[in-house]
Amino acid sequence: MALSCHRQTGACRPAARSSRRAAPRPSTAVVAATASAVPASKLIDGKGIAETIRSEIAKEVAVMKQQHGLTPGLAVVLVGSRKDSETYVRSKKKACAEVGFDSYGSDLPADVSEEEVLKVVEAYNADPRVHGILVQLPLPKHISEKRILDAISIEKDVDGFHPLNIGSLAMRGRDPLFVPCTPKGCIELLERCKVPISGRKACVIGRSNIVGMPAALLLQRRDATVTMVHSKTPDGQRICAEADIVIAACGVAEMVTGDWIKPGAVVIDVGINAKDDPTAKKGYRLVGDVEFESAAAKASLITPVPGGVGPMTIAMLLQNTLESARRAVTGEKVAGH
Ligand code: NDP
Repeated sequence: MALSCHRQTGACRPAARSSRRAAPRPSTAVVAATASAVPASKLIDGKGIAETIRSEIAKEVAVMKQQHGLTPGLAVVLVGSRKDSETYVRSKKKACAEVGFDSYGSDLPADVSEEEVLKVVEAYNADPRVHGILVQLPLPKHISEKRILDAISIEKDVDGFHPLNIGSLAMRGRDPLFVPCTPKGCIELLERCKVPISGRKACVIGRSNIVGMPAALLLQRRDATVTMVHSKTPDGQRICAEADIVIAACGVAEMVTGDWIKPGAVVIDVGINAKDDPTAKKGYRLVGDVEFESAAAKASLITPVPGGVGPMTIAMLLQNTLESARRAVTGEKVAGH
Protein backbone atom coordinates (compact mmCIF):
# COMPACT_ATOMS: atom_id res chain seq x y z
CA MET A 1 0.00 0.00 0.00
CA ALA A 2 1.31 3.45 -0.86
CA LEU A 3 2.20 5.74 1.99
CA SER A 4 2.87 9.39 1.83
CA CYS A 5 3.54 12.46 3.87
CA HIS A 6 0.47 14.59 4.36
CA ARG A 7 2.28 17.81 4.92
CA GLN A 8 -0.85 19.89 4.59
CA THR A 9 -3.30 17.77 6.46
CA GLY A 10 -1.51 15.64 8.97
CA ALA A 11 1.38 13.45 9.96
CA CYS A 12 3.50 11.24 7.74
CA ARG A 13 1.16 8.29 7.90
CA PRO A 14 -0.40 5.60 5.75
CA ALA A 15 -2.15 7.20 2.75
CA ALA A 16 -5.08 4.82 3.01
CA ARG A 17 -6.21 2.27 5.53
CA SER A 18 -6.93 -1.32 4.72
CA SER A 19 -10.67 -1.69 4.43
CA ARG A 20 -10.50 -4.97 6.40
CA ARG A 21 -9.15 -3.28 9.50
CA ALA A 22 -10.57 -0.61 11.71
CA ALA A 23 -8.71 2.66 11.31
CA PRO A 24 -6.08 2.70 14.07
CA ARG A 25 -6.58 5.38 16.67
CA PRO A 26 -3.60 7.59 17.38
CA SER A 27 -1.77 6.72 20.58
CA THR A 28 -2.25 8.94 23.61
CA ALA A 29 1.22 10.34 23.03
CA VAL A 30 0.45 11.28 19.45
CA VAL A 31 -2.72 12.97 20.57
CA ALA A 32 -0.77 14.77 23.29
CA ALA A 33 1.88 15.84 20.82
CA THR A 34 -0.73 17.01 18.37
CA ALA A 35 -2.49 18.94 21.08
CA SER A 36 0.79 20.62 22.05
CA ALA A 37 2.53 23.32 20.06
CA VAL A 38 3.85 20.72 17.58
CA PRO A 39 1.82 20.64 14.35
CA ALA A 40 0.58 17.19 13.35
CA SER A 41 2.13 17.71 9.89
CA LYS A 42 5.56 17.21 11.45
CA LEU A 43 4.79 13.87 13.04
CA ILE A 44 5.93 10.56 11.60
CA ASP A 45 3.14 8.17 12.58
CA GLY A 46 5.19 5.07 13.34
CA LYS A 47 2.22 3.35 14.93
CA GLY A 48 0.04 3.75 11.83
CA ILE A 49 2.87 2.80 9.46
CA ALA A 50 3.64 -0.31 11.54
CA GLU A 51 -0.04 -1.30 11.41
CA THR A 52 -0.03 -0.96 7.63
CA ILE A 53 3.06 -3.16 7.40
CA ARG A 54 1.46 -5.75 9.67
CA SER A 55 -1.66 -5.88 7.52
CA GLU A 56 0.53 -6.25 4.40
CA ILE A 57 2.28 -9.17 6.13
CA ALA A 58 -1.03 -10.78 7.17
CA LYS A 59 -2.22 -10.69 3.55
CA GLU A 60 0.96 -12.34 2.29
CA VAL A 61 0.79 -15.00 5.02
CA ALA A 62 -2.76 -15.91 4.00
CA VAL A 63 -1.60 -16.38 0.39
CA MET A 64 1.46 -18.38 1.50
CA LYS A 65 -0.72 -20.71 3.55
CA GLN A 66 -3.20 -21.18 0.75
CA GLN A 67 -0.76 -21.58 -2.14
CA HIS A 68 2.15 -23.35 -0.44
CA GLY A 69 0.67 -24.78 2.76
CA LEU A 70 3.40 -22.99 4.69
CA THR A 71 2.92 -20.99 7.87
CA PRO A 72 5.80 -18.76 8.97
CA GLY A 73 7.03 -19.71 12.45
CA LEU A 74 8.94 -17.67 15.02
CA ALA A 75 10.60 -19.25 18.06
CA VAL A 76 11.30 -17.05 21.07
CA VAL A 77 13.70 -18.19 23.78
CA LEU A 78 13.26 -16.50 27.15
CA VAL A 79 15.63 -17.19 30.03
CA GLY A 80 14.61 -16.09 33.52
CA SER A 81 11.67 -13.97 34.59
CA ARG A 82 12.59 -10.31 34.04
CA LYS A 83 9.29 -8.47 33.84
CA ASP A 84 10.36 -6.27 30.91
CA SER A 85 11.60 -9.29 28.93
CA GLU A 86 8.39 -11.19 29.65
CA THR A 87 6.38 -8.21 28.39
CA TYR A 88 8.44 -7.96 25.18
CA VAL A 89 8.08 -11.71 24.55
CA ARG A 90 4.33 -11.57 25.13
CA SER A 91 3.91 -8.72 22.67
CA LYS A 92 6.04 -10.51 20.06
CA LYS A 93 3.92 -13.67 20.35
CA LYS A 94 0.72 -11.63 20.16
CA ALA A 95 2.01 -9.86 17.04
CA CYS A 96 2.81 -13.27 15.49
CA ALA A 97 -0.72 -14.51 16.16
CA GLU A 98 -2.26 -11.36 14.67
CA VAL A 99 -0.52 -11.82 11.31
CA GLY A 100 -1.14 -15.57 11.20
CA PHE A 101 2.34 -16.84 12.16
CA ASP A 102 2.88 -19.83 14.42
CA SER A 103 4.96 -18.99 17.44
CA TYR A 104 7.01 -21.35 19.53
CA GLY A 105 8.36 -20.52 22.94
CA SER A 106 10.89 -21.85 25.41
CA ASP A 107 10.69 -20.27 28.82
CA LEU A 108 13.77 -21.44 30.68
CA PRO A 109 14.56 -20.85 34.37
CA ALA A 110 17.16 -18.19 35.27
CA ASP A 111 19.60 -20.86 36.52
CA VAL A 112 19.48 -22.94 33.32
CA SER A 113 22.93 -23.93 32.04
CA GLU A 114 24.47 -22.46 28.90
CA GLU A 115 24.55 -25.96 27.41
CA GLU A 116 20.79 -26.33 27.89
CA VAL A 117 20.11 -23.01 26.13
CA LEU A 118 22.40 -24.08 23.30
CA LYS A 119 20.46 -27.34 22.95
CA VAL A 120 17.18 -25.40 22.68
CA VAL A 121 18.63 -23.11 19.99
CA GLU A 122 20.01 -26.09 18.08
CA ALA A 123 16.63 -27.84 18.19
CA TYR A 124 15.00 -24.74 16.67
CA ASN A 125 17.80 -24.53 14.07
CA ALA A 126 16.85 -28.03 12.94
CA ASP A 127 13.06 -27.53 13.07
CA PRO A 128 11.65 -26.80 9.57
CA ARG A 129 8.50 -25.21 11.07
CA VAL A 130 10.68 -22.48 12.58
CA HIS A 131 11.81 -19.71 10.19
CA GLY A 132 13.09 -17.27 12.79
CA ILE A 133 14.74 -17.66 16.18
CA LEU A 134 14.94 -14.88 18.69
CA VAL A 135 16.75 -15.08 22.01
CA GLN A 136 15.41 -12.38 24.30
CA LEU A 137 18.28 -10.30 25.73
CA PRO A 138 19.72 -9.72 28.24
CA LEU A 139 20.63 -13.24 29.30
CA PRO A 140 21.62 -14.03 32.90
CA LYS A 141 25.29 -13.26 33.62
CA HIS A 142 26.45 -16.91 33.70
CA ILE A 143 25.40 -17.39 30.07
CA SER A 144 27.55 -16.07 27.23
CA GLU A 145 25.34 -13.97 24.95
CA LYS A 146 28.00 -14.23 22.29
CA ARG A 147 28.03 -18.05 22.37
CA ILE A 148 24.24 -18.26 22.23
CA LEU A 149 23.79 -15.66 19.46
CA ASP A 150 26.59 -17.27 17.42
CA ALA A 151 24.73 -20.61 17.68
CA ILE A 152 21.63 -19.30 15.90
CA SER A 153 21.64 -20.43 12.28
CA ILE A 154 22.17 -17.29 10.15
CA GLU A 155 19.27 -18.47 7.99
CA LYS A 156 16.98 -18.00 11.04
CA ASP A 157 18.73 -14.99 12.61
CA VAL A 158 15.70 -12.71 12.32
CA ASP A 159 17.19 -10.29 14.88
CA GLY A 160 20.07 -9.81 12.43
CA PHE A 161 22.68 -9.84 15.22
CA HIS A 162 24.83 -12.69 13.88
CA PRO A 163 28.34 -11.44 13.00
CA LEU A 164 27.98 -12.86 9.49
CA ASN A 165 24.81 -10.84 8.92
CA ILE A 166 26.38 -7.68 10.39
CA GLY A 167 29.56 -8.33 8.37
CA SER A 168 27.56 -8.58 5.15
CA LEU A 169 25.74 -5.36 6.06
CA ALA A 170 29.10 -3.60 6.35
CA MET A 171 30.55 -4.89 3.06
CA ARG A 172 29.91 -3.50 -0.37
CA GLY A 173 28.56 -6.03 -2.82
CA ARG A 174 27.12 -8.23 -0.06
CA ASP A 175 23.58 -8.41 1.25
CA PRO A 176 22.82 -9.65 4.75
CA LEU A 177 20.08 -12.24 5.10
CA PHE A 178 18.57 -10.13 7.87
CA VAL A 179 18.95 -6.55 9.07
CA PRO A 180 18.52 -5.75 12.80
CA CYS A 181 14.91 -4.78 13.42
CA THR A 182 15.12 -1.37 15.12
CA PRO A 183 17.52 0.27 12.62
CA LYS A 184 15.64 -1.38 9.76
CA GLY A 185 12.46 0.21 11.17
CA CYS A 186 14.15 3.64 11.22
CA ILE A 187 15.05 3.36 7.53
CA GLU A 188 11.59 2.04 6.67
CA LEU A 189 10.06 5.13 8.31
CA LEU A 190 12.33 7.41 6.25
CA GLU A 191 11.56 5.55 3.04
CA ARG A 192 7.81 5.32 3.57
CA CYS A 193 7.79 9.06 4.36
CA LYS A 194 9.73 9.62 1.12
CA VAL A 195 12.63 11.32 2.89
CA PRO A 196 15.56 11.48 0.44
CA ILE A 197 18.64 9.75 1.88
CA SER A 198 21.14 9.61 -1.00
CA GLY A 199 23.58 12.50 -0.89
CA ARG A 200 22.24 13.81 2.43
CA LYS A 201 24.24 14.33 5.60
CA ALA A 202 23.16 11.98 8.38
CA CYS A 203 24.14 11.88 12.01
CA VAL A 204 23.65 8.76 14.13
CA ILE A 205 23.96 9.35 17.86
CA GLY A 206 25.04 6.10 19.49
CA ARG A 207 27.09 3.20 18.11
CA SER A 208 25.64 0.10 19.77
CA ASN A 209 25.70 -3.20 17.91
CA ILE A 210 21.91 -3.39 17.86
CA VAL A 211 20.92 0.17 16.92
CA GLY A 212 23.51 2.87 16.20
CA MET A 213 26.11 0.92 14.25
CA PRO A 214 23.68 -0.91 11.91
CA ALA A 215 21.64 2.30 11.46
CA ALA A 216 24.79 4.09 10.26
CA LEU A 217 25.64 1.20 7.91
CA LEU A 218 22.11 1.23 6.45
CA LEU A 219 22.24 4.97 5.81
CA GLN A 220 25.67 4.61 4.21
CA ARG A 221 24.41 1.81 1.96
CA ARG A 222 21.78 4.30 0.78
CA ASP A 223 24.54 6.80 -0.08
CA ALA A 224 24.15 9.19 2.84
CA THR A 225 27.29 10.79 4.26
CA VAL A 226 27.18 9.49 7.79
CA THR A 227 28.78 10.77 10.98
CA MET A 228 28.52 8.79 14.19
CA VAL A 229 28.46 10.58 17.51
CA HIS A 230 29.19 8.62 20.69
CA SER A 231 30.06 9.27 24.33
CA LYS A 232 33.66 10.21 23.52
CA THR A 233 32.80 12.58 20.65
CA PRO A 234 33.77 16.17 21.45
CA ASP A 235 31.06 18.65 20.45
CA GLY A 236 28.47 16.17 19.21
CA GLN A 237 25.93 18.98 19.14
CA ARG A 238 27.84 20.93 16.47
CA ILE A 239 28.26 17.79 14.33
CA CYS A 240 24.61 16.85 14.65
CA ALA A 241 23.46 20.37 13.80
CA GLU A 242 24.89 19.91 10.27
CA ALA A 243 22.81 16.81 9.55
CA ASP A 244 19.76 16.56 7.30
CA ILE A 245 18.78 13.28 8.99
CA VAL A 246 19.30 12.52 12.67
CA ILE A 247 18.89 9.09 14.25
CA ALA A 248 19.15 9.42 18.03
CA ALA A 249 19.98 6.23 19.96
CA CYS A 250 22.13 7.24 22.92
CA GLY A 251 19.93 6.02 25.77
CA VAL A 252 20.10 9.42 27.52
CA ALA A 253 16.65 10.87 28.12
CA GLU A 254 15.97 14.05 26.09
CA MET A 255 19.68 14.69 25.49
CA VAL A 256 19.19 15.90 21.90
CA THR A 257 17.60 19.31 22.23
CA GLY A 258 16.54 21.75 19.50
CA ASP A 259 20.08 23.21 19.47
CA TRP A 260 21.31 19.94 17.98
CA ILE A 261 18.88 20.10 15.06
CA LYS A 262 19.42 21.87 11.75
CA PRO A 263 16.29 23.70 10.59
CA GLY A 264 14.30 21.34 8.34
CA ALA A 265 16.12 18.17 9.44
CA VAL A 266 14.28 14.86 9.83
CA VAL A 267 14.59 13.40 13.32
CA ILE A 268 14.15 9.73 14.20
CA ASP A 269 14.14 9.19 17.94
CA VAL A 270 14.91 5.60 18.93
CA GLY A 271 15.15 6.26 22.66
CA ILE A 272 12.72 4.87 25.22
CA ASN A 273 13.23 6.25 28.71
CA ALA A 274 10.94 6.47 31.74
CA LYS A 275 10.80 10.00 33.15
CA ASP A 276 9.24 10.77 36.54
CA ASP A 277 5.95 12.58 36.10
CA PRO A 278 3.73 12.91 39.17
CA THR A 279 0.85 14.02 36.93
CA ALA A 280 0.92 10.71 35.02
CA LYS A 281 -1.17 7.76 36.24
CA LYS A 282 1.87 5.50 36.61
CA GLY A 283 4.04 8.28 38.09
CA TYR A 284 6.22 8.35 34.97
CA ARG A 285 5.93 8.87 31.25
CA LEU A 286 8.00 7.66 28.34
CA VAL A 287 10.35 10.07 26.65
CA GLY A 288 12.87 9.63 23.87
CA ASP A 289 16.54 10.51 23.56
CA VAL A 290 15.33 13.70 21.86
CA GLU A 291 13.70 16.59 23.69
CA PHE A 292 10.56 16.47 21.62
CA GLU A 293 9.18 20.02 21.74
CA SER A 294 12.42 21.92 21.13
CA ALA A 295 13.59 19.48 18.42
CA ALA A 296 10.17 19.50 16.72
CA ALA A 297 10.33 23.29 16.53
CA LYS A 298 13.36 22.93 14.22
CA ALA A 299 12.62 19.64 12.42
CA SER A 300 10.54 19.15 9.27
CA LEU A 301 9.54 15.66 10.43
CA ILE A 302 9.99 13.92 13.75
CA THR A 303 8.97 10.65 15.41
CA PRO A 304 7.06 10.86 18.70
CA VAL A 305 7.84 8.64 21.70
CA PRO A 306 5.91 6.44 22.11
CA GLY A 307 4.30 5.80 18.73
CA GLY A 308 7.37 6.34 16.55
CA VAL A 309 10.17 3.79 16.18
CA GLY A 310 8.92 1.40 18.91
CA PRO A 311 6.02 -0.15 16.93
CA MET A 312 8.30 -0.51 13.90
CA THR A 313 10.69 -2.85 15.72
CA ILE A 314 8.13 -5.65 16.05
CA ALA A 315 6.80 -4.98 12.52
CA MET A 316 10.36 -5.49 11.20
CA LEU A 317 10.76 -8.69 13.23
CA LEU A 318 7.63 -10.02 11.52
CA GLN A 319 8.94 -8.85 8.15
CA ASN A 320 12.27 -10.63 8.71
CA THR A 321 10.47 -13.85 9.69
CA LEU A 322 8.28 -13.59 6.60
CA GLU A 323 11.39 -13.10 4.42
CA SER A 324 12.85 -16.27 5.91
CA ALA A 325 9.63 -18.19 5.22
CA ARG A 326 9.66 -16.87 1.63
CA ARG A 327 13.16 -18.31 1.22
CA ALA A 328 11.82 -21.65 2.48
CA VAL A 329 9.07 -21.50 -0.17
CA THR A 330 11.44 -20.68 -3.01
CA GLY A 331 14.18 -22.96 -1.72
CA GLU A 332 16.58 -20.05 -2.11
CA LYS A 333 20.11 -21.17 -1.34
CA VAL A 334 21.87 -19.09 1.26
CA ALA A 335 25.19 -20.89 1.16
CA GLY A 336 28.11 -18.53 0.84
CA HIS A 337 26.83 -16.21 3.51
P1 NDP B 1 23.40 1.44 24.38
O1 NDP B 1 23.46 1.89 25.79
O2 NDP B 1 23.84 0.05 24.03
O3 NDP B 1 24.25 2.44 23.48
C1 NDP B 1 24.17 3.81 23.65
C2 NDP B 1 25.10 4.49 22.71
O4 NDP B 1 24.97 5.89 22.91
C3 NDP B 1 26.56 4.14 22.92
O5 NDP B 1 27.20 3.99 21.69
C4 NDP B 1 27.11 5.35 23.67
O6 NDP B 1 28.44 5.68 23.36
C5 NDP B 1 26.23 6.47 23.15
N1 NDP B 1 26.12 7.53 24.14
C6 NDP B 1 25.87 7.43 25.46
N2 NDP B 1 25.90 8.63 26.03
C7 NDP B 1 26.17 9.53 25.05
C8 NDP B 1 26.35 10.92 25.03
N3 NDP B 1 26.28 11.65 26.13
N4 NDP B 1 26.62 11.51 23.85
C9 NDP B 1 26.72 10.79 22.71
N5 NDP B 1 26.57 9.44 22.68
C10 NDP B 1 26.30 8.82 23.84
O7 NDP B 1 21.89 1.69 23.91
P2 NDP B 1 21.04 1.03 22.73
O8 NDP B 1 21.69 1.29 21.42
O9 NDP B 1 20.68 -0.36 23.08
O10 NDP B 1 19.69 1.88 22.84
C11 NDP B 1 19.68 3.27 22.59
C12 NDP B 1 18.31 3.82 22.92
O11 NDP B 1 17.35 3.21 22.11
C13 NDP B 1 17.84 3.57 24.34
O12 NDP B 1 17.07 4.68 24.77
C14 NDP B 1 16.96 2.34 24.22
O13 NDP B 1 15.99 2.28 25.24
C15 NDP B 1 16.35 2.56 22.89
N6 NDP B 1 15.94 1.36 22.16
C16 NDP B 1 14.70 1.40 21.56
C17 NDP B 1 14.27 0.36 20.81
C18 NDP B 1 12.95 0.47 20.13
O14 NDP B 1 12.40 -0.53 19.70
N7 NDP B 1 12.42 1.67 19.97
C19 NDP B 1 15.05 -0.89 20.67
C20 NDP B 1 16.37 -0.79 21.24
C21 NDP B 1 16.77 0.30 21.98
P3 NDP B 1 29.70 4.70 23.69
O15 NDP B 1 29.67 3.66 22.63
O16 NDP B 1 30.85 5.60 23.61
O17 NDP B 1 29.45 4.15 25.07
